[in-house]
Amino acid sequence: MEDLEGHPALAAASAAARAHLDGLRERRVGASPDVTSETLRTALGGPVPVHGSEPAEVVERLVAAAAPGLVASSGPRYFGYVVGGTLEAAMAADWLAVAWDQVAGLEVMSPAAAAVEEVAGGWVLDLLGLPADASFGFPTGAQMANFTALATARHAVLDRAGWDVEADGLQGAPRIQVVVGGQVHATVPQALRLAGLGSRPDVAESDEQGRMRPAALEQVLRSDGGPVIVCAQAGNVNTGAFDPFADLADLCAQTGAWLHVDGAFGLWAGASDRLRSLVAGVERADSWATDCHKWLNVPYDSAFVATRDPVAHVAAMSWEAPYVVPGAGRDPYRYVPEASRRARGFALWAALSQLGRDGVADLVDRSCGHARRFATSLADADPGVTVLNDVVLNQVLVRFDDSDDVTRAVIAGVQAGGEAWLGGSSWQGAAVMRLSVSGWLTTAEDVERSVAAILSALAAARS
Ligand SMILES: *Cc1c(COP(=O)(O)O)cnc(C)c1O
Repeated sequence: MEDLEGHPALAAASAAARAHLDGLRERRVGASPDVTSETLRTALGGPVPVHGSEPAEVVERLVAAAAPGLVASSGPRYFGYVVGGTLEAAMAADWLAVAWDQVAGLEVMSPAAAAVEEVAGGWVLDLLGLPADASFGFPTGAQMANFTALATARHAVLDRAGWDVEADGLQGAPRIQVVVGGQVHATVPQALRLAGLGSRPDVAESDEQGRMRPAALEQVLRSDGGPVIVCAQAGNVNTGAFDPFADLADLCAQTGAWLHVDGAFGLWAGASDRLRSLVAGVERADSWATDCHKWLNVPYDSAFVATRDPVAHVAAMSWEAPYVVPGAGRDPYRYVPEASRRARGFALWAALSQLGRDGVADLVDRSCGHARRFATSLADADPGVTVLNDVVLNQVLVRFDDSDDVTRAVIAGVQAGGEAWLGGSSWQGAAVMRLSVSGWLTTAEDVERSVAAILSALAAARS
């Protein structure tokens, strides 16, 4: 092992990282119970320091000040939101991306960063069952992947209507109808808002699992041949449910609508032989957004966007300047909203290399198995526990004693206890506990320990 002699700040960071990783399995999952934003701000210091400090001392002060406010979200018993851990090779590759300090904008600034994105992007398309000739880019998260795809869609549908949106903007443009499902993820309206399309799209109602109903889409779709963008979903953030892509693609083909799929975590079902049927027809969409930092367990931040229309994609995202030297190959900046950025491709390439095709499938299948174990263990343990969703993926919705108060008290009790961490949501008007299994470290034993923590919080909430 390299001792990092001559690099005391890196040695301090390496020691702190090691202590964090070694403690991840058994430490309290949430932040320290005494921590507040104020205690953290105080520990981080007052006004701008007048004089500088030695780098190693800076790192040690940062570690001491931040530690109480860290959450073990990459540990084995964190089931809040949809958050993955970090694969070892991906973490190491991200360290290198920082040490190498490559700019992943232009090929000429880092041929290696450009090439690794090209290779890793092709691998992701293959694993997810998307068209091999789709264009792709690497934005920060699914929200920005949704934005990139919707800006591409905006270009394509307005171009067909004879309008140049990049030159003239939306003022005076033909109106675009945007349709989302009744259970759209909040980042899609946000991406629509950023794209100038407004955050109040038309809504096609969903069924009881949160899947868009094709008949409802058919009913709201305009039929005058004007521009339309439909936003479907692979993996509902509450239930894990999938829209019926083949039916939606048929309707979009009939009307010329652009079909976008937000699959922040759900698209990874396409990498599993057991689950692939859930995404049947998804390859017929026009654009796709997914995260690598969630289920693939790449460090934050890392996402992926792909489109069927490379010309529209580049038209929506690219720009020229006299000092920009076009690469002989692929220039990463032409496919994302950012210009200069971290070389995200190294960590993605490393994650996919560590796992291989089998490993990605196993990660997805194992997480879903743990989700089913959560559902059956909880439901079998107590008649007051209701699992509200069909557990088709890695998401579980649980309600206790059919009561909002009891359900919220159980969530708060588990969070305060520190053995596990999970969050709340609301489903069809009722308060629910939401569990998401997305990290590679989680074992069946972690599920059983978390079930025990939930049941003891339930007993406490009742008494
Ligand atoms: C998490 C999530 C997003 C947003 O992703 P970020 O990585 O937070 O930007 C969008 N859609 C769905 C379905 C998600 O689960």
